[in-house]
Amino acid sequence: MISYDKAKKLMLENVVILGKEKVSLDGALGRVVALLVKSKIAVPPFRNSAVDGYAVRCQDTAGSQGMVRLKLLAEQPAGEYFRKKLGKGQTLKVMTGAPVPAGADAVVPQEEVEERDGWIVIRREIKKGENVREAGEDVQKGQKIIVPGTLLRTPHLGLLAACGGNQVTVYRRPRVAVLITGNELCQPGEPLRPGKIYDSNSTTLKALVKSSGAELVSLKRIKDNLKALLAAMKAATEQADIIITSGGVSVGDYDLVKEAAQKLGAKQIFWKVAQKPAKPLAFYVLKKGKRTVWIFGLPGNPGAVMISFEEYVRPFIKKISGGNDFLSPEIEARLTQPVKKKRGRLNFLRIKLEKSDGGWQATPCGPQESGIISSLTRTEGLALIPAEADFLEAGSPVKVHLVAW
Ligand code: AMP
Ligand code: MG
Repeated sequence: MISYDKAKKLMLENVVILGKEKVSLDGALGRVVALLVKSKIAVPPFRNSAVDGYAVRCQDTAGSQGMVRLKLLAEQPAGEYFRKKLGKGQTLKVMTGAPVPAGADAVVPQEEVEERDGWIVIRREIKKGENVREAGEDVQKGQKIIVPGTLLRTPHLGLLAACGGNQVTVYRRPRVAVLITGNELCQPGEPLRPGKIYDSNSTTLKALVKSSGAELVSLKRIKDNLKALLAAMKAATEQADIIITSGGVSVGDYDLVKEAAQKLGAKQIFWKVAQKPAKPLAFYVLKKGKRTVWIFGLPGNPGAVMISFEEYVRPFIKKISGGNDFLSPEIEARLTQPVKKKRGRLNFLRIKLEKSDGGWQATPCGPQESGIISSLTRTEGLALIPAEADFLEAGSPVKVHLVAW
């Protein structure tokens, strides 16, 4: 059995980042940028007005004790371009976003101006630059706007669009195949037969894979039968980068994932981690010519599945997708209650968080056994209770990994 830290390190060391591809902005949300993006243009591309108003030359208003009259040349809506230069004593009506004409160096808001018979009246001295948005004040031409490893969120897409890009080079999303084992499983919606339980891991794993940015290519349910499992795993290696199995990885007579992985020729990186839940967690790497397939053997208990996905599979998927920020966000919190446990395994304690004057406070949010699913709905974070601890008193500081499910 290896430690949690060692297991995580070994797992992350085995990452090989996948290839790149170009996608349109419409398909880029949640993807990770693979090539540095520089802007081909300045944003805004030209000097323009921040208000609806009148473009002026400041010196025409200098020293005015209360009143200046300027000749109105024309009106310029956004999207049009006035070619003449503004001369002494002249003004141009400009709408928000319209170019500020050459010669002008400020815009007076419409609300401050009286317009009559082709003339305007201004009643104060105008300062240079008032209400003018300079070309390139947001982004300069050639400026680096998005660095590789950035997860594209909505503002990034807006920035790319503003710079005129309609495509972006991102890392390929990992393809994931899920294999659910267990003779006892029955599908939600079907009648529950004696001795059977509903399969909840299919549902949670589908959602977890989706939320991690990976592409789910298949999900199969398999009986606890070596031949069937091996065939399903073989088929999965053809289409998937990552195989996630559920159940059958412990030491029981029907726990066949390890044997199947071995028969497949996969190299075991680890099996059994000193943690609770998900002690039997297994991780394999399979070389298939130039390709690599990674196999996560998750235990069957619903709590173990969800927690080991957050702690291992999600960071792995994010790293393999090229992301710079692949680990779960971590904060420090203080326990509001004492915690007792056996020495030897790190415990992932399901907790709720509350903000207090002294920082974050963590309170266990219900039963913690790996088969329990209900308290996961209240879990905001997993407090890491160290392997060597057997008792932590109330007020003890603990690391908390925020869950993304
Ligand atoms: P296993 O790891 O296969 O020994 O399963 C451990 C526990 O998790 C057993 O109580 C199983 O019945 C349960 N379990 C296994 N697979 C699932 C599943 N897909 N949905 C819900 N519970 C499961
Ligand atoms: Mg089983």
